[in-house]
Amino acid sequence: METTKCLIVGSGPAGFTAAIYAGRAGLSPILYEGLVPGGQLTTTSEVENFPGYPDGVSGTVMMDDLRRQAGRFGAEVRSGEVTAVDFSRTPFVITVDGSQTIEAQSVIIATGATARYLGLPSERKFMGMGVSACAVCDGFFYRDRDVAVVGGGDSACEEALYLAGICRKVYLIVRKDFLRASDTMQRRVFDNPKIEVLFGHVTEEILGDENGVTGVRLASGRVLEVEGFFLGIGHEPRTEVFRGQVELDDQGYVVVGAGSTQTSVRGVFAAGDVADKVYQQAITAAAAGCKAAFDCERFLNGED
Ligand code: NDP
Repeated sequence: METTKCLIVGSGPAGFTAAIYAGRAGLSPILYEGLVPGGQLTTTSEVENFPGYPDGVSGTVMMDDLRRQAGRFGAEVRSGEVTAVDFSRTPFVITVDGSQTIEAQSVIIATGATARYLGLPSERKFMGMGVSACAVCDGFFYRDRDVAVVGGGDSACEEALYLAGICRKVYLIVRKDFLRASDTMQRRVFDNPKIEVLFGHVTEEILGDENGVTGVRLASGRVLEVEGFFLGIGHEPRTEVFRGQVELDDQGYVVVGAGSTQTSVRGVFAAGDVADKVYQQAITAAAAGCKAAFDCERFLNGED
């Protein structure tokens, strides 16, 4: 069976940064890209907050650059989805696309988290044209415009507050008649004159034309005239394949040691959104990927 020193699962900023560092450290890592090569960033329009790109960069271009940079230092980037892992024995055994197996002395999990969507056809149609799951990434495009956020947890409140600092008016669409966000968050939302909370409302359809979103129709029949529609209904860490193999928290995120990328299994590390439900930014994921490569190198050298 093929054996590698370092196997990286996932191809977002965390995975590629881990591959760059592991490659430069001479570990000849193998990276499996997974079902969404390039990860979540390839679903946003423009990345404007990654340091070093003063004019912004498209998420796809950035991921292509990272892929080439990883390749330059000897990382082998392969297409393929990791479908099973066995971390109960060393070297670890990883199954790709249900059939091929490969052994790895160490593994870096960088599979990310996907934003939850409502699942409406109109939402899919206007993705990147007014529909976004990341206010911090895309809010800037709606300066002085009216927007809507859906959700009633901390994410939705945080998005609404962030957007209120940029936009003219923010509707917060909540399906129940209460917010489940923390008290502090709720107070901030209620105290913000730009935010109107619409309790007990369900989004039925996103309206738009060839230029993008023009409104949202609620199940009550009311139409909100907005140019941006932001999802704030949570994220789903992509950890199904690791369940039962490494410790996950109650929301399915990989548990890592404080200030480290070490998981509950020695030699298995996790970086990026898959192990971070708080920040979930490209730059924080990249930083964690760097740490994971260092942790991995130390483990392989017997220094951990
Ligand atoms: P949550 O699961 O806490 O909240 C999801 C919200 O989305 C709920 O209000 C839920 O409604 C609503 N929702 C889910 N599905 C739909 C749907 N199909 N249509 C309409 N509404 C829907 O997720 P969060 O991402 O907000 O938070 C996850 C965790 O991260 C929490 O522990 C949170 O505290 C934490 N967090 C902390 C932050 C901070 O401290 N700054 C910032 C962001 C997150 P319902 O209530 O009806 O189920």
